[in-house]
Amino acid sequence: MTARILDGSTVAEGIRQGVAAAVRTLTERGVTPRLEVVLVGEDPASHVYVSAKGRACAEVGIRSSTHTLPAATSADKLAALIATLNGDDDVDGILLQMPLPTPLDGRAFLDLIDPAKDVDGFHPVNVGLLHQGRPSFVPCTPAGILRMLDESGVELKGRRAVVLGRSDIVGKPMAALLLSRHATVTICHSRTVDLAAVCREADVLIAAVGKAALVTREFVKPGAVVVDVGVNRVGDRATVERLFPGNDKRLAQLEKKGYTLVGDVDFEAVREVAGALTPVPGGVGPLTIAGLLENTLRAARRRRGLEGA
Ligand code: NAP
Repeated sequence: MTARILDGSTVAEGIRQGVAAAVRTLTERGVTPRLEVVLVGEDPASHVYVSAKGRACAEVGIRSSTHTLPAATSADKLAALIATLNGDDDVDGILLQMPLPTPLDGRAFLDLIDPAKDVDGFHPVNVGLLHQGRPSFVPCTPAGILRMLDESGVELKGRRAVVLGRSDIVGKPMAALLLSRHATVTICHSRTVDLAAVCREADVLIAAVGKAALVTREFVKPGAVVVDVGVNRVGDRATVERLFPGNDKRLAQLEKKGYTLVGDVDFEAVREVAGALTPVPGGVGPLTIAGLLENTLRAARRRRGLEGA
């Protein structure tokens, strides 16, 4: 068997086009959604993600700007900035890029964001609503995955779903969404005993661990749908040759950048067992940014009483 490849990029493009059309309609009515991004410190990956989010906003007509603060920013200063953005009626969405540099406690600052502007869906009010089965702002990555599964015709009702990883940004909200669709859900983590056997029970397996190619073919029931959330940089040539035998493109990337991006799933091995599989890159990643755009549009409509627009 060779797995069907689930193409997140195409689904994400559809979402972006829908958001762009809706933003045009709102703009004609005098309302252009506005997202403010707060970036603290020098984490290179965070800077790349924030630039990508800014470009994506510009492409669909959402106004956005980034507040870049030094790593030594005090807790009081960061709290004051969030309070200012909360109080600015022209701001629809606030995104605090994670992780924050030590000693700033990310969770404490996410708690300060107005839940009505919480486009990442990380505020406890929005987390609680999701777990009560009445979602408001849903974290972008799991929301995008659900959308992709729907558009790919993957049945969830009554099926066994295993979520590998229990983070607040992916694993837990993903499990809540699958449960809301009547899947029978198991969540695994670093203390799970006999991980491969638990994962092998899954009709739908979501891997969000951050460990390159942890999910091998032994984890996968024949025909299962496998969604690979992981984004891991692998810079070791022997590992790249083992994971992508005969793949010159991967080796060229390694030469050029010093690494290639590898998911949590051993793609080449698992594609021979799974029924459907997402690639890395080009699978889940584009859906995350598309979800942010949707949430920002949603925030603007709600805050301005234009939900039907
Ligand atoms: P995280 O906060 O580090 O959580 C990782 C989870 O995996 C934890 O629950 C951890 O268990 C579990 N885990 C770690 N090692 C394990 C092992 N050997 N066996 C079983 N479970 C293990 O990570 P995250 O933020 O959820 O992100 C996961 C991956 O997704 C990362 O590669 C990240 O870069 C990627 N990601 C991608 C996107 C995207 O848009 N494509 C978005 C978000 C995240 P414990 O709880 O027991 O520690």
